[in-house]
Amino acid sequence: MADIRMDEARYTDPENGDVQVVQLPGTNLRGGNIHYNEALHKGHLTCRFCDAAVHHHNGSKRIAGDNLNGASQHFHTNRGQTHGSDCAWPEINLRAEKTTAYNDHKGYKIHLNIPALRQVFKKQAGRLYVRNEEKKLINLVPDLEDRRPRSMDSLAAIIDLIKKSDTDRLRGSVVVNQGHIVPWDRFLVRHDYRGEKGQQRFGGLIRALQQGQTGPCLMEVFNDKAGHKGNRRMSRPMHWYTDDHGRDHVIVPTLWLEERGLYPLMTREGRYLALGYPRHHAQAQGPDKVVHYLNMSIRDPAQLAAASLPLIAQEAKANRQRRHGPA
Ligand SMILES: [Zn+2]
Repeated sequence: MADIRMDEARYTDPENGDVQVVQLPGTNLRGGNIHYNEALHKGHLTCRFCDAAVHHHNGSKRIAGDNLNGASQHFHTNRGQTHGSDCAWPEINLRAEKTTAYNDHKGYKIHLNIPALRQVFKKQAGRLYVRNEEKKLINLVPDLEDRRPRSMDSLAAIIDLIKKSDTDRLRGSVVVNQGHIVPWDRFLVRHDYRGEKGQQRFGGLIRALQQGQTGPCLMEVFNDKAGHKGNRRMSRPMHWYTDDHGRDHVIVPTLWLEERGLYPLMTREGRYLALGYPRHHAQAQGPDKVVHYLNMSIRDPAQLAAASLPLIAQEAKANRQRRHGPA
């Protein structure tokens, strides 16, 4: 991969794990960012968009006037470190070089840069996934090239994107994470225990998983207090279909809160959004019933929000009307 010089990096506080985006000293700060401070941040930097370890490079100011090497200060990967396959920097870099025009009639390319997702994926990868993503990525590159990249570092950021984006553009978007490329409509799975649509969406997700089509997913669940047990949060069951043997197939999205500190985030009954890698597990319960669990591990608050898609959709509509006037 080409030499990539970055103007931002991710600082992780070694004491408490807090994450902040640091910028080069002396530059105009963008929302929420802080300036790099050698005394505080040195040795604790990673790439903004992947797990590669990086450091601050002071540039060649000392040999002022010599622009042979022309390097101004920047962040750079440490020796032996390379950017991840889903890192956003290579294309940001490319854009700076050849000012690639993005096609704003196309959906976004949404990168999920949430460290906890990496852990979740790695834990599952050995057992459940066949990794031929490199190949898949290459095939899709022409389509991905002119999509405008967006980087999401939390579920809150995705919710904000939904509220502020044009609906059609969002529907045409793809979500990229750890070599997986998932169309928006498959990424977002809405819970609807009354209607048909919710069952179809969750049923579609189960079929996809059965065919080995894995990937990140933003799942809306309806936290049913009756389904609380230790670290388990079961969603209100949805009837899927009745098979030829008269057995009822029921879908139960289930979140596993892997840290005790997450329990208080999910006590209230109601709708939640969960971001992660779903797994499917079917279990016969007696002669007449098959329960299809859609399990998702939650390791970080950045994967979970007490939020309802219908309410988010209302807010998105209000935002659109503010922009364009009522339809
Ligand atoms: Zn990177």
